[in-house]
Amino acid sequence: MDYGSIPSAKSSQPSMHSTTSVNDIEESDEEAICVQEIEHKGKGLVAARPIKRGELLLAERPFLVLPSDPSNSSILVALSQCSREEQRTFFSLSNSFRDRLLPAIGIFESNAIYLPHSDPAREQEAIFLLASRFNSSCSPNVSKCWDPTLHAMLFRTLRDVEEGEELCFNYCDVLGTRDQRREEILEERNFECRCEVCELDDEESRASDERRSTIARLFEEVAGCGKEPTLGMRKIKIALRLLKEEKLIHYETSFYYDAFQFCVMVSDFSNAKAWIKRSWEISCCTSGPDSDIARMFKLYWANPRAHEVFLELQCPILVSLLQAAAYILPRRLAQPDSSLTNALLHDHAGLYEAIDAKQGRMYAPPILLRLARYTKFKVKPIHLKGAAVSAARDLTKGEIILSESPIFTLPLVRDQNAVMGGLHACNSEYKRMYYDMCNCHDVSDEMSKELGIFATNGIPCGTDCCSGRVADREGVFVISARINHSCTPNVNGSWIDWVQQIEQRATRDIKKGEELCRAYIDVLLPKEERQKVLMDKYWFKCKCESCILTGDKSAASDQRRRRIREILDKHFDGKAKDVDEGFLEVREGLKLVAQEGLVAYDSAFYFFGFHLCAASSDFESAKEWAVKARDTHRLVFGQTLEEIYERLVANPACYPDARTLPQRSLHGPDSPSWNSHGIGTGS
Ligand SMILES: [Zn+2]
Ligand SMILES: [Zn+2]
Repeated sequence: MDYGSIPSAKSSQPSMHSTTSVNDIEESDEEAICVQEIEHKGKGLVAARPIKRGELLLAERPFLVLPSDPSNSSILVALSQCSREEQRTFFSLSNSFRDRLLPAIGIFESNAIYLPHSDPAREQEAIFLLASRFNSSCSPNVSKCWDPTLHAMLFRTLRDVEEGEELCFNYCDVLGTRDQRREEILEERNFECRCEVCELDDEESRASDERRSTIARLFEEVAGCGKEPTLGMRKIKIALRLLKEEKLIHYETSFYYDAFQFCVMVSDFSNAKAWIKRSWEISCCTSGPDSDIARMFKLYWANPRAHEVFLELQCPILVSLLQAAAYILPRRLAQPDSSLTNALLHDHAGLYEAIDAKQGRMYAPPILLRLARYTKFKVKPIHLKGAAVSAARDLTKGEIILSESPIFTLPLVRDQNAVMGGLHACNSEYKRMYYDMCNCHDVSDEMSKELGIFATNGIPCGTDCCSGRVADREGVFVISARINHSCTPNVNGSWIDWVQQIEQRATRDIKKGEELCRAYIDVLLPKEERQKVLMDKYWFKCKCESCILTGDKSAASDQRRRRIREILDKHFDGKAKDVDEGFLEVREGLKLVAQEGLVAYDSAFYFFGFHLCAASSDFESAKEWAVKARDTHRLVFGQTLEEIYERLVANPACYPDARTLPQRSLHGPDSPSWNSHGIGTGS
């Protein structure tokens, strides 16, 4: 729900530059490249002399800039402000949409390059007269990088290039298989990539696909190796070997950075330095030596201990553990005097064993900071309706779609001063993004603009949808704020305290192109109340799949949601003393949750199953329930409760409520007898 992306009069104006190349950059040497006819490809750019890796080939200012997906008429309007000569140049560019689109838009779509923006809804597309001659390659030897300060696209070589060799960058996600890449390029550019990788014979192409898919898989898997640095390093080494074989230099940076972090985690600072040096070298080729990322790597190279995974033991870590404990375990257990809290307080050293005795320091929980790879979603502005985020490809349940840091966070109780204080600490770019965000309270005089924006876009940092606990802070996130609301969401955000980021995950399988939606409010309320809360707080009428139901169907949905809440409350408050009834309710809850598509609640019901078994001293069954609760929790919330679940799985008897009910023999969640009767057998 965000109206901030309606193009303002200023940003929809095309910007024109009579000088399209940047002459004030010394290192750029345009003598190094020349336009040539390339077999099967039309015109292309080739090296006019041998070129070393990392050289700046070209720094070009855009000829024409428009908001993404412009119409034919908006392109014509922009062109009408150009000289005759410039118009002629534009219409001489290649057009791969000749059979489908009008000439102006056909040429634009064939040649436009995205100008990345920290807010994807504000991305623009631009035409570069010379750079549009670069052909596509799925093993590119050129990287492009937008420099907003110079207002120019910078092109650098990724590897040494011989004289006469063609220079290409990638038009698509190079980790896709040949079929996926073909589909993407055909959709976006309406032509078939004829690069050396795409032209391999079928057998070699299959081998290449296999390598690329493995790299993509390893990229995801490394994220889960925070506690197993050795395993993580092994995966990184395989990925780096495959990247070499596929001549894909882009992704090396990210794996080197992961390797650096694993080394820092185990205090191996000399190897950490060697890895981060490589990250720095590659980032100089991909983004340039003056880019933020290259500077960051250089800083870590000089002082690996500066990295965030190496933190002093501070209260926030313990606080976050306690919050995690309270996250799903029954509320009453999270009271300060409970045995669980005590266990956490006195046994924290056991949770994080990597204490550097000499330094008297302790490592932060093992979660890696990853370089973003935004290939999973697209943000599209919708005229007069803000923006919508949709899946850029098929997503599987549990997949992380996005990890995002907030512009800033504030305590729930806040006033104008608090918001101004938060803004004061932001840099000018963040401030601008903040003021560009939607404010649905602008009709009321009671709220200032700053407060209104926060009220509209604030996302709880640490919400616990299972127990109804409310997070104590809210944050403003540029991309997450663009994800619209649904009362049957397919995305769930989890606040990860130790990295201070929100992770948006797919809560079910999502098809490419499907809109991504998260829940802004308590979705267990009946429809009428949901609509009222949404109208009061966000000024819109929800038209999600659950809200468009009418009559009996709507009443049935309300009834199911009310009942889910009822069972949750009863079990969270520890009122489920009757084991038979408790199990019937767990089973009913799981069924209702599935019917309503509210999978975020699965893990709570599996946890109740665990509670009943552990309380009845059936620790074998309890373990099975705990595994199920852990796995379903992980799919929706990531590893936020991993430590606690590991303990419960390893030793269910350590659960504070264990043995509090008469001893009984029960069933695990997958037991056929449980499924058919829903009742355990008495001992
Ligand atoms: Zn290709
Ligand atoms: Zn709705």
